[in-house]
Amino acid sequence: MTDELSSTTQTIHIIGAGLAGSEAAWQLARRGIAVRLYEMRPHKMTPAHSSGKCAELVCSNTFRADHLENAVGLLHEEMRRMDSLIMGCGDKARIPAGTALAVDREQFSELVTAALEAEPLIEMVYGEVTEIPEDGLVLIASGPLTSDALYEQIKALTGEDRLCFFDAIAPVLDAESIDMKVCYWKNRYDKNVDEGEAGDYLNCPMNETQYKVFIAELVAAEKVAFKGFEDIPFFDGCMPIEEMAERGEDTPRFGPMKPVGLEHPETGQRAYAVVQLRRDNRMGSLLNMVGFQTKMTYGEQKRVFSMIPGLEHAEFFRLGSLHRNTFIKSPALLNQSLRLKKEPRILFAGQITGVEGYVESASMGLMAGRFLADIVQGREPSCPPEDTAHGALLAHVSGARVEDFQPMNINFGLLPSGKKREGKRRLSRAERRRSVSDRALASLDAWLQQGDS
Ligand SMILES: Cc1cc2nc3c(=O)[nH]c(=O)nc-3n(C[C@H](O)[C@H](O)[C@H](O)COP(=O)(O)OP(=O)(O)OC[C@H]3O[C@@H](n4cnc5c(N)ncnc54)[C@H](O)[C@@H]3O)c2cc1C
Repeated sequence: MTDELSSTTQTIHIIGAGLAGSEAAWQLARRGIAVRLYEMRPHKMTPAHSSGKCAELVCSNTFRADHLENAVGLLHEEMRRMDSLIMGCGDKARIPAGTALAVDREQFSELVTAALEAEPLIEMVYGEVTEIPEDGLVLIASGPLTSDALYEQIKALTGEDRLCFFDAIAPVLDAESIDMKVCYWKNRYDKNVDEGEAGDYLNCPMNETQYKVFIAELVAAEKVAFKGFEDIPFFDGCMPIEEMAERGEDTPRFGPMKPVGLEHPETGQRAYAVVQLRRDNRMGSLLNMVGFQTKMTYGEQKRVFSMIPGLEHAEFFRLGSLHRNTFIKSPALLNQSLRLKKEPRILFAGQITGVEGYVESASMGLMAGRFLADIVQGREPSCPPEDTAHGALLAHVSGARVEDFQPMNINFGLLPSGKKREGKRRLSRAERRRSVSDRALASLDAWLQQGDS
């Protein structure tokens, strides 16, 4: 840490009063530190927002599951324990939605806006930031719909050719939910596989009838209406699978579903087509559907993909989607405390760092707020342990493989696995997940106490 950054008289600029920026400003103000929070709306709107309120929820009104057998529920609880503004307002604006936390979206953003405007240490500045401030500390939290002028500045700052594209994301599955009696590990032509190793790809074989029915369902499935507000080209290699199927029944079979070189290791039989799943994290607990970017609706994805042999009971950690996205190659550019390696007075938070979702974006804002407070108070920024949901997300953002870095929701695959047995009894999946959450919360509490002492 450079000494000139540790001063409480330092100006802190936060760009974007979305989920991340609002939370960061709040965390700083609660620690007695003044901030300037810039928001371009309502003067300049994004293609998806419809108000001038802070932390507007652009699409759904849910913060997803609110219990500890779900990783986002764990993230909620950790945020509550760190006095999160977003969670506080979310709880106040809660509406009935079973075990999920859904909010009245209007009330939610009104509560956030009122809390920020009432806070004397937060100076709200309404207007577009077109240049990154040259003084003080800067937190860039301008989100997936960052304005064009700022986008150009970030591009120059990070040295990237392009940051945003139509992002068609492939689903990610829970490895434990796949039927291993049907699927088999094998790399195409056994390339890059050491003797005795199984390979990096899990293959789901299809016969001709299964393939033809599957392709027909892909073509017929309901798709998310294309929002024509973005004039950005498709990212190469990201064509949705259903669009490929529409070009011809056999097109996917000569593309991502090609069976050649993937003969069954025991029978030597070649399937008519194959769906390949690739490890998505170091632990192999997450599997990515290779080449299966899609804009089918979430319900249709679950229905159609469960027709793939071996995936009948698959649990999806992330479903596919298609939207404009602006995010930086964080693992190459940021350190674990979200600071730009080459210019540590600049931090990033929110979706732009490569997390996905309202809660995840807010949680990175919460972390950035705490890190900034550490910096101005002359301390080394303190990161939560990696067995907490916050620590796991920070590790993903700063430590994932750069080549295939994609925005990620929080999920248990990012955390070290939990207890498998209690005595002789094998724990159920819900119990195992609960044990991961219990350990995470104990770890977070210990870390928070350390900070207080
Ligand atoms: C179309 C769309 C739909 C989505 N739907 C969902 C969903 O249903 N559920 C979910 O969990 N996640 C969803 N997301 C993903 C994402 O989690 C949310 O976009 C989330 O709001 C990201 O939080 P953030 O703070 O990073 O960005 P935002 O909440 O977008 O906040 C960024 C803020 O910065 C402002 N800003 C941008 N440029 C400038 C500038 N130059 N100067 C000043 N202010 C600026 C913007 O106006 C905005 O208020 C969606 C994303 C998109 C693009």
